[in-house]
Amino acid sequence: MTDVIKRLSEYVANQIAAGEVVTAPSSVVKELMENAIDAGASLVIVNVKEGGSELIQIVDDGCGMSFDDALSCFERHATSKISDVNDIYSLSTYGFRGEALASIAAVAEVELLTRREDDELGTRVVIHAGEIKDHSPVACAKGTQFIIKNLFYNIPARRNFLKSKRVETSNIITEFEHVVLSYPKVTFCIYDNEQIVYNLPASVLRPRVSGVLGKQNNAALMDLYIDNDIVEIRGYVGKPESAKKSSPHYMFVNGRYFYKSYFNKAIQLAYEKLMPSDKRYLPPYVLYFTIDASRIDVNVSPSKTEVKFDDEQAVFQILELAVKESLGKNGIVPMIDFEAGSPIDVPLFNEGDDIKVPSLDVNPYFNPFDESFSFSTAVGSFDGSFRSSISENATITGSGSFSIGEAAFENSYSGDDLIDLDISGFNENENATSVNVEREEVFHDVDIEYINDDNTSSGQETFEDIDVSAENIEIRSCNKFKERYLIVSTDLMIFVVHLARASWRVMYDGLMRELAVTKTLNRQKLLFPEEIELSAKHYYIASEQQGDFMSLGFDYSLEESNRVVLNSVPAEGGGADAQLLFEELLDSADADNSTDGYLKTRREMNVARISYIASSAKRNISDKECLYIAETLLNSVEASYAPNGKKILFNMTEDDIEKILK
Ligand code: ADP
Ligand code: MG
Repeated sequence: MTDVIKRLSEYVANQIAAGEVVTAPSSVVKELMENAIDAGASLVIVNVKEGGSELIQIVDDGCGMSFDDALSCFERHATSKISDVNDIYSLSTYGFRGEALASIAAVAEVELLTRREDDELGTRVVIHAGEIKDHSPVACAKGTQFIIKNLFYNIPARRNFLKSKRVETSNIITEFEHVVLSYPKVTFCIYDNEQIVYNLPASVLRPRVSGVLGKQNNAALMDLYIDNDIVEIRGYVGKPESAKKSSPHYMFVNGRYFYKSYFNKAIQLAYEKLMPSDKRYLPPYVLYFTIDASRIDVNVSPSKTEVKFDDEQAVFQILELAVKESLGKNGIVPMIDFEAGSPIDVPLFNEGDDIKVPSLDVNPYFNPFDESFSFSTAVGSFDGSFRSSISENATITGSGSFSIGEAAFENSYSGDDLIDLDISGFNENENATSVNVEREEVFHDVDIEYINDDNTSSGQETFEDIDVSAENIEIRSCNKFKERYLIVSTDLMIFVVHLARASWRVMYDGLMRELAVTKTLNRQKLLFPEEIELSAKHYYIASEQQGDFMSLGFDYSLEESNRVVLNSVPAEGGGADAQLLFEELLDSADADNSTDGYLKTRREMNVARISYIASSAKRNISDKECLYIAETLLNSVEASYAPNGKKILFNMTEDDIEKILK
């Protein structure tokens, strides 16, 4: 019998490891940037082409490597950062596995130029798919430069699996942002296809945060700081009005980016009632956690962003307190009573302790029209050390809503202890509907849990999907119900129609038809061109997709320092705020990484976004418009679903009614 166990060749082992470390061009950028930081660089330049698949170049002015190290750094488990297993517990550097360079060199063409300050000559190493092509002295700048070409060229399955260049570039920029937000004292630049995306001079934290999040977000940021036995948290959170579905948000623990949706919840709890309670709504924030390294576990896979905290619930509660305190200091309720003892000294909780999150009691019987009703009793009291300061700030408007500070709410109550923002999007009373409220509707409908085409025909629903493609359906009556629905009857059946979604669908179909015929949407010139300052990422998207956005009816010029001047918007967008329309479009262009949903193409999604905003900007839809919407909808092929895949209507035939009334 021969032995069956063979030792994997170094080459194969590195390729396998590469599957874990080098998952995409963005992970190469991350690893190389982290190495540059570890090497003490004060300047790091990133240069990518074609989403990193053609070129990733990282230049630093760090400590450089010796002639021998320049080669051995590519060996698996070669690292200058630990030599003893105990070292990993006191780790201050990023990498310690010594895997990144070996993995990258196994799956690309790599060139390294490096020189230490005191060496006269530097070193050049060239490795193609793990094979050494050159190792020689060379004249070069102090520091290190990695040039990675044709990533995954020797593994076609993985090269073909790369996402679009746009998505890969966007992911690279995201990784870049994570590193630059951790190291404000280092100068960073990043170029994409020779176009500069970020140029961030060495600085301190706030200007760096501003450089990444853009001036507009920056203006809304409040300082946050809390420190106690368990954790120190510092950073910035946005005021409630800056909360959006796609706000930039970043968390770092001990200098390392991580993501934890559980902590988002803590932030949302703190904003409770100051912004819509949808879980995708967040203020912009950048938060830095400092915690004893033995109380967290980052040792998942190097490409993962998960971190496990030993005291997860306590950190959650501390974060919520910190955000509340920050809101309170900025005069935004709910307010903390600073006199009633420090809320900051949270005791250490033991595992299994029942930790109660402070909450705000709301009286469900609150009625602003009841004059005998005193507002302070309506609001009730906060738990623990929170005191309600709402009674001072609250004003009751006569329009069926009340407002606290800057936020306004409808006065309905949903049964849990949150006030439910019940918005039709087509509210009669325009004045009572604040910006927050409109956005709530954006929320419910737009984003976009796509459902698959085949889902639409499956399931045993009581009411069948309607095939209305056959011939013209004639409407006998069409009436609004509760401003949100249409009750439509034809000769054969009754339809209950969700008005907002129907109007969205009809506008969407109209725009898609127009695009198919004319290739561009009609533009409407703005009376006063609007200058908008964008985040660097949005600016990048605006410049990269200018052609496509122009065909959708936007006309804008790209100006210095991330500004654009908006001259025209899609004519259909009529009532909508031009800037909002444009920024929502940039958000959607940024947010979507996959197009395999109900809507197939980027174009369709952009049009869905435009028509959504445009249709929801319409108020007081007249009976005539309702009739038009119902007629157009019922006579279109895809009457059943809104562009986000949500059901628009159901129908009842005479049989159905008889069955029910049997
Ligand atoms: P790790 O970072 O886990 O040590 P890497 O494979 O990323 O593993 O890097 C291997 C070694 O190469 C590092 O420990 C370091 O000594 C050296 N090295 C990598 N990049 C640089 C750089 N930009 N400047 C100086 N030395 C570097
Ligand atoms: Mg490394």
